[in-house]
Amino acid sequence: ASPALSHIGLAGLAVMGQNLALNIAEKGFPISVYNRTISKVDETLDRAQREGKLPLIGQYTPRDFVLSIEKPRSIIILVKAGAPVDQTIAALVAHMDAGDTIIDGGNEWYENTERRIQEAQSKGLLYLGMGVSGGEDGARHGPSLMPGGSYQAYMNIKDILERVAAQVEDGPCVTYIGEGGSGNFVKMVHNGIEYGDMQLISEAYDVLKNVGGLSNGELAEIFSEWNKGELESFLIEITADIFRVKDEDEGDELVDKILDKTGMKGTGKWTVQQAAELSVAAPTIAASLDIRYMSGLKEEREAASKVFKEAGLVEEVENVKGEAVDKKMLIDDVRQALYASKICSYAQGMNLLRAKSVEKGWNLNLGELARIWKGGCIIRAVFLDRIKKAYQRNPNLANLVVDPEFAREMVQKQAAWRRVVRLAMLKGISTPGMSASLQYFDTYRRARLPANLVQAQRDYFGAHTYERIDRPGSFHTEWSKLA
Ligand code: NAP
Repeated sequence: ASPALSHIGLAGLAVMGQNLALNIAEKGFPISVYNRTISKVDETLDRAQREGKLPLIGQYTPRDFVLSIEKPRSIIILVKAGAPVDQTIAALVAHMDAGDTIIDGGNEWYENTERRIQEAQSKGLLYLGMGVSGGEDGARHGPSLMPGGSYQAYMNIKDILERVAAQVEDGPCVTYIGEGGSGNFVKMVHNGIEYGDMQLISEAYDVLKNVGGLSNGELAEIFSEWNKGELESFLIEITADIFRVKDEDEGDELVDKILDKTGMKGTGKWTVQQAAELSVAAPTIAASLDIRYMSGLKEEREAASKVFKEAGLVEEVENVKGEAVDKKMLIDDVRQALYASKICSYAQGMNLLRAKSVEKGWNLNLGELARIWKGGCIIRAVFLDRIKKAYQRNPNLANLVVDPEFAREMVQKQAAWRRVVRLAMLKGISTPGMSASLQYFDTYRRARLPANLVQAQRDYFGAHTYERIDRPGSFHTEWSKLA
């Protein structure tokens, strides 16, 4: 008799693939695994043994791997995005049959997925581009999954994905996202929002440390406290932990020893590029990206710091010098500023998703996306439930900030928010994310902007015409003759 076939296969056993394969096996689905460098296959088999004799079958050639999976086959690929995905597909497809499915779980550019969907279709294969979030731990114990592409392919593995995903009170953190590259696009925007969250948290840290004078110990306490309220989220929780970790050699906190230069892999940049392409304002996410770039200029910043010291720059403008900061009030203000800023950042991400959905006809369900981000992923947070409800109340909500509940909160928090941004500005501490969010809010909520003047200028020098508020039509004025 031929050996029992696996339910599913997974190729690419680096951090994400190895952990997701173990997760799938642990949920009772026999799985075949393969990796180009075969030592990783043995490593994965060892872990499967150690972590509870999980039903995981190692394979050492693409052919044996494919043939060990029951038909119609579903094969997840988790390799480096780009050319490695094409190379892996080529190696596997040679042994696959019509009706089989390829699922790319990497952080892939959505247009690559759309190209591969076409290529797969021409061979009778089905294809999913599936965003996977949650890092190593999420992959192992329950990620948030964002599969887009063939609906049939999704239905073939729905039972597996629903068992493997993180579980929250309103279901597993997975849903069919939509056609084409929508799964990858949604994951990309998730990452853009993640950039925003991390930037905003780092600004809260900067203000509390450098304006409020808080120690790492106090910061750990504050973030733990915040994690019991409306800010409760994975990123706030790990931030509290980070402030407690001591440097092994010297006994003081490790966070102070880390070079202030942020790495990145590209999904944040794609998010900002897409926002620009679609004419969607995403200033908080864009500010987060800009600050990552500026953080990279460490040597220049050190040189600039010297230049301005020698030029006589004082860090605080005269009228706040020595102004006593009420620590307790500052902490509470920063909490509110962080929360209000975060709402604006999510509003930007959601509006980008909606604009793309309209362009591509994806029919994205924004409330459902907020729901599957409630668990498993890096931006998981209690307040995503409120975003879900806001879109359930009104699927056509123009902007999160005008949902009646969020609107009330913005109003409650705006005084604290303004105090934080003002104080930081006066003290010369940059808060680009919080400021961008506040500017976004102030711009969006004002019925009249100075854009009338910009229109007049455009008409003056370029005869671009303007509209009027008091009658319909398109107008041009010979400004220079009348001035
Ligand atoms: P990775 O470091 O991005 O990629 C390493 C894997 O890719 C290895 O299995 C490697 O095989 C394989 N590979 C590279 N070039 C290849 C080629 N030309 N042909 C065949 N295989 C090739 O791994 P990862 O961190 O686990 O991430 C996998 C995917 O998930 C990426 O798209 C990543 O962006 C995404 N992702 C990662 C995280 C995370 O926290 N790490 C979170 C979410 C999503 P060899 O062993 O043979 O070199």
